[in-house]
Formats: sequence, structure tokens, C-alpha cells
Amino acid sequence: MLKSYIEIPPSATLRMNTLALAKKQRGERVYNLSAGEPFLPTDSGVIEAACRAMRAGQTHYPPVLGLPELRRAAAEWMNSTYATAYAPDEVIATCGGKFGLYALCRALLGPGDEALIIAPYWVSYPSLIQLAGASAVTVATAPERGWKASRQDLEQAITPRTRVIIFNNAANPTGVVYHREEIGALLECAAAHDLAVVSDEVYSGLVYDGRIFVSAGSFPEHHGRVFVVQSVSKHFAMTGWRVGFVLGDKGIIESLGVLQSQSTTGTASISQWAATAALAMAPAIMSEVSQKMSERRDALHSALQSTFGGFVAKPASGLYTLAALADLGVKDTASTAFCERLLEQANIALVPGAPFGQEGYVRFSFGEDSAELCAAVRALGEYLKKTRLLV
Ligand code: GLU
Repeated sequence: MLKSYIEIPPSATLRMNTLALAKKQRGERVYNLSAGEPFLPTDSGVIEAACRAMRAGQTHYPPVLGLPELRRAAAEWMNSTYATAYAPDEVIATCGGKFGLYALCRALLGPGDEALIIAPYWVSYPSLIQLAGASAVTVATAPERGWKASRQDLEQAITPRTRVIIFNNAANPTGVVYHREEIGALLECAAAHDLAVVSDEVYSGLVYDGRIFVSAGSFPEHHGRVFVVQSVSKHFAMTGWRVGFVLGDKGIIESLGVLQSQSTTGTASISQWAATAALAMAPAIMSEVSQKMSERRDALHSALQSTFGGFVAKPASGLYTLAALADLGVKDTASTAFCERLLEQANIALVPGAPFGQEGYVRFSFGEDSAELCAAVRALGEYLKKTRLLV
């Protein structure tokens, strides 16, 4: 019998998505509100740029750190959109933001080290940290405090082994958006303990109701310790193209390039040309995607309100609504068992709160169109009534 040394669990978001897609493949009617992605076509100008690149013979190995055009475009986009000051050689293009996070964990953490993550956290952080031989230390937050961590919360979790804080703003799954002063205080804390900050900002463009997004990369005094992770997936509806970025200290970026040269060789050259075109059209595409996602958020919120009452909060950003099972009127709050039953018996795919570090909750993704979101909530209400899972 062969043994695999991969001992981490599968991604909870992608696991639910895979199960939902398999049901769809079998011809079943599935309400898939699991993995977060804007269900919109990729902009036709972006697709045209990818086709042009292929026709022009751009189908060979790209430079390991990414196309120079793309690295320049990513730095300029961050600098003009979020008031950062990155040079093109402080950028690496990766296979999605996720590989950027993996590479950063490998570069910044070693066996015995600790990384702080703020719960509820994105499902992949604990495993990415574990793959680097390090341990994730969870900083708890509470809905009464807007799911935000303060400097004091971080201070209490820091030990002599802490090396990294993984900060996620705008946050998945809570939609929390941190203000400038709050980010400044967290960065001061990192500086006081000489920690690196990995700032996952892949939802920066999906911030609603006129809120302002502040990048952790926009504090010049902390430039050397902050690594921003970005992606074209959510902002440009390009999840399948697999293009992300890490921006930060040139020396570390080069070492991520070494890891990339020995693992992925970088992301597909065609996708890199597509991402370069998307960044050139960033203001127009981003505002359209964000507008659509804001409407879908509202549609999901009203459907949840009319079915379950006014308990579920409207998120400030992102693609997700995090709801307490108790607020949906569900008695048994074991979230993984609930979501598995829900998919099996009612063909509704949500993601359980447990792998986000928040048992008793479930996550709805609102990337689908409004009619589908409303149909899913209706089906959920009917299922809960029929099975008498309600209080
Ligand atoms: N990041 C998205 C989510 O949380 C996409 C799936 C994934 O990679 O986790 O659903």
C-alpha cells in the first residue's frame, strides 16, 4: 500500500464546491453557494488579449517571476489604486493568490515557528502554515466587536516563537473592513515584535456602500515587513485564469521566485497576458464587478431576512455572508454535519463555519446571480421546515 505524506485536510471551500459540481454533473439541480467566485463572464477585452497573445506565439515559458509587463502593471495598479509605492521588482506573479500565500509561508516560517491568524479565518491558512512546518495560533474575535482583532488581542497571542501575522482585509468570511488607524496599530504591534505581516487583500475591490479600502502596503514606515497578496480572480471575475501576486521586499520576492522555479515555473503565460490586459482596464472592470456583487449581496440579504428574520448581518465587503445557524433557527449547530446533510438531502451547497475556526456558523457565497440566490434561500427555508430542524 502506498503512503502519501500529504496529511492536511482538503480545502473546505473547494471540497463543498467539488461535491456540488459532481452532483450537477450527474444532472441534479444544485444550489451552489459554496466556493466564492463572481459568476460573471471574464471581460471580452481580456479574452481578446489572451487570444492575441496565443496567436502571437506567446505560448512558451514565461520568466519565472512573471512577465515584466505584468509585474509593472501590478505595481502601478496597486500604487495608483491603494497609494502604495511598489517597484516592479517587488512583485511576483503566482498561480493565484493561494500559491503566493503558500510561497510566503514557506519563505517566512520554519519548523517550530508560529503564525497568528484571526478567526474567523480563511480555511486554507492553517494548512498553508502547517505545510511550512509551523503552527497556526488563532486570535479569536466576536460579532459584538465587529469580528475585528485589536492590537491587544494580537499582543496576547504573541510568543517568542511568533514570526508572522496573517492579516486578511477585506476579510473572508466575515466581510470585515479595517480602518487606517486599526491597520496602523496592528502594524505597530508587528514592528514592536519584529514580525512579518502577510496581508491578504484579494477582496480589496469588493468593498461596498462607499467604504474606503486601505492597504497594509500603504504605510511607508512598515514597507519592509509587509507582504501584500493580491489576485485577479475576484476583482476581474477571472478565478480560472489562476493569476495572483505577492508584493513586498525584493529579497523575499526573489526567494519566492526560487521556490516557483523549482515547483510551478510560474503561472500560464496566456493567463499572464490576460491579467496584464485586465489591469490596464482595472477601473472599468472592477467597478462593474463590484456593482454586480453589491446587488447580489443585497438580494441574498433580503432573501435571508424575509425567510429567517432580521438576524443576519449585511457584509461590508467580499463575496460572503456568514450566518449563525441559531439565527437561521437551526437547533443543532454542528456546522460540518449540517452542511453535508444539506447538500446530500436538499442539493444546497454552503460552507460550514468550523473550518473557518467559527463553529455554529455557515457561509453563503453570493457570487451567483440574484435569482439563483433567492431560489437557494427559498429551498433552504423549505428544507428546514420539512425536516423540522428549526427551533
Ligand atoms: N477563496 C474562495 C473561497 O473562499 C475560493 C475557493 C478557495 O480557494 O478557497 O471560497
